[in-house]
Amino acid sequence: MIASKWLTTGPKVREFERLFAEYVGAQHAIAVNSATAAMHLALEAAGIQADDEVIVPTFTFAATAEVVRYFDATPRLVDIDPDTFNIDSTEVERAITPQTKAIIPVHVAGQAADLDPILRLAQEHNLTVIEDAAHALPTTYKERMIGTIGDFTTYSFYATKTLATGEGGMITTNDEEWATRCRIMSLHGISKDAWKRYTSEGSWYYEITAPGFKYNLTDIAAAIGLVQLAKLEAMNERRQEIARRYDEAFGTHPALTIPYRAPYSSHPFHLYVLRLNLDALRIDRNAFIEHLRAFNVGTSVHWIPLHMHPYYQDKYGFKPDDFPVAHQLYHRIISLPIYSAMTDQDVDYVIDAVVHIADTHRV
Ligand SMILES: *Cc1c(COP(=O)(O)O)cnc(C)c1O
Repeated sequence: MIASKWLTTGPKVREFERLFAEYVGAQHAIAVNSATAAMHLALEAAGIQADDEVIVPTFTFAATAEVVRYFDATPRLVDIDPDTFNIDSTEVERAITPQTKAIIPVHVAGQAADLDPILRLAQEHNLTVIEDAAHALPTTYKERMIGTIGDFTTYSFYATKTLATGEGGMITTNDEEWATRCRIMSLHGISKDAWKRYTSEGSWYYEITAPGFKYNLTDIAAAIGLVQLAKLEAMNERRQEIARRYDEAFGTHPALTIPYRAPYSSHPFHLYVLRLNLDALRIDRNAFIEHLRAFNVGTSVHWIPLHMHPYYQDKYGFKPDDFPVAHQLYHRIISLPIYSAMTDQDVDYVIDAVVHIADTHRV
């Protein structure tokens, strides 16, 4: 790849796009430098304007709603399902107004949101569905691959994701016009890919058709992505094994609740989110995390719901219990270590630490 002399967007990116599209079964894949860029481009292609509303679950990462603010549009936050942590379609229906233009379901931890009711609402109200699939590679929903279902699907190849290129992202869509718009806007609104201009097939000529962005992926990242894509199934299998061992170890413990597995989705376990049964414990979630830290077990919380952050509280006047399911869930969750390079000994060590802490602090 270095030998090919292409460092920025070039043949490796095209190959990565082609193989990624093939892998998920989508008509088009456009590589970009982050999932945030991917969602921004999808909203742009969908024609989002200032004062439009886009429905977003409050239980997500910052990026899912900030991209809506880029347009001076309003992210209409909604609550989630308590079992799957995914967007609640009943709440989506209640949030639809004449200003609503799009819905961004997030496939939390990699498990698919229940898309059928959302697609039905989208069809009824003429809304664009952009799936935030930053965790959902690979995921199937009712035997169909995520990446082929909504109008757009966006992926992240950020360092911590299941396919990691350091920084990177992908948009998939089956609509050719949208794909073209995303591609053009990903590189300055220029109507021809820069790399084509410098090859014998192309010329020096180009046209700026819109004030676009600088969101292209590099060939270096795409080369890493190609290697990762080839390992994706093996890495997924390993995470399944780890999740099964965690489920077995924690499934019967009265202070712990293991992840719910929705019958309509596969679960790639990008995250393994353990819930504490706080009534059965004398310590809270934060203390539990501190105890795990004392065992040298690094964990995280995915996520602090958006409506509990200062920006959204100041801007929209939210109170913590405006979205009670997300708010209550937030106080119970711990994301345990899960990655394909984890050894069985690592997994046993985490299990022993969690069970020891839960046993020691039971009521
Ligand atoms: C990581 C993540 C993103 C952002 O991905 P980037 O590639 O870092 O922009 C968006 N949504 C969710 C749910 C994520 O976990």
